[in-house]
Amino acid sequence: MSVLTLKAKVIADEQTQAVLLDAMSCATKVYNGLIWHLRDEFERTGKTKATRKNLNAVLKTLPRAKGYYSLSAQATRDEVIQAYKSFFALRKAGRTQHQTPGFRRKTDYSPLRYYEGFGFTLEGDQLNLSLGTGRQDGVKSVTVTLQMRQDLSFQRVRGVLLTYDKTHGPCAHLVVEVAAKQPLGNRRVAVDLGETQAITAIFDDGATLLYSGRLVKSIRRYWNKVRAKVKPPGAENRRKSRRFGQIERKESRQVEQLLHILTADFVHRCWLAGVDTIAVGDLTGIRERIDYTDALNQRLHAWPFRKIVGMVTYKAGLHGIRVTEVSESYTSQTCHACGEVKKSGRKHRGLYVCACGWQVQADANGAANIFQNAFKVSPLTERSSGRVARPVVLPIRLGWHTVHETKSKVALAA
Ligand SMILES: [Zn+2]
Repeated sequence: MSVLTLKAKVIADEQTQAVLLDAMSCATKVYNGLIWHLRDEFERTGKTKATRKNLNAVLKTLPRAKGYYSLSAQATRDEVIQAYKSFFALRKAGRTQHQTPGFRRKTDYSPLRYYEGFGFTLEGDQLNLSLGTGRQDGVKSVTVTLQMRQDLSFQRVRGVLLTYDKTHGPCAHLVVEVAAKQPLGNRRVAVDLGETQAITAIFDDGATLLYSGRLVKSIRRYWNKVRAKVKPPGAENRRKSRRFGQIERKESRQVEQLLHILTADFVHRCWLAGVDTIAVGDLTGIRERIDYTDALNQRLHAWPFRKIVGMVTYKAGLHGIRVTEVSESYTSQTCHACGEVKKSGRKHRGLYVCACGWQVQADANGAANIFQNAFKVSPLTERSSGRVARPVVLPIRLGWHTVHETKSKVALAA
């Protein structure tokens, strides 16, 4: 069983949407009312109590608190408490320059929260939300239609968060419980992450999958070119800083989308192959795998790796596959055949070359070492002869993305 958040677009007629937005606007007014109370008290007396008890009393004096569901109003109260908690934590740490938590803009629509068993029902795509019993217009609940991904069936909805922003309009975020798939076997695979090959996976029979990192690189190269035309952020040009942030977000989104495709494909293949455990390096060697001479890598160097680990872990979880992190120290420098560690001169055109005669795709060598670290056995040892076999790489196509795959074990031994 896994818990995940499903985002859904809220479809509602004009009147329903107006009521919903009014409830969200009530939440903003309540938030500001509570903030005002605490700030006022703090400014007058130098202290204030951001406690539930204290704020519940204030909540009763705020007429707009009746404009939306009572448990949602309590959630607003908790948001205020949270804001004050971090404010007090900062002051305690001696950072007294911070001001008391600020107001939300009057025109903002604040989120509405619902918890399992209280104030909402979901039947098919029909979401019914209770708005409490105290609204002036007398509306007690609204029903909206949700538009969401269809490929996922869930058994329970633990909660709903309703948000609004200008780009997406009203959105429902459903926290759902999904039954995880069961692994089909007990095979194992180890993963090495890199730049040239984003993912190199070696299975327990020596089969190796290579997912090229070329597209990730080209996305970053493109946005680097765009960035070069924009003045760097500085104190005197805030607008440009904003443009910088925008570029960063667009770039991240594109890279993330690509990584989603790669990791989804990889985890699915693992599942089909009967894998129940994936070993990934713990990224201790992250520096040695990044070519810092490349201008691209001055920035954003580590995050794609962490993203991949996060995505693989999450998706594997949905497939009932366990992910373990293992030490990857020296895995890229160690010869998988003879165990010798050498710092330099290991790579020639993507090949790991050792004096002992071992010569394989460098990332496959690294992945084999991670496999060895995780499972205490080599994925490349032929059971019959005890000899270490050599992986051979074949390119295959995955949509618009190029993936490389090895031949079967039989071919490897040849
Ligand atoms: Zn060697």
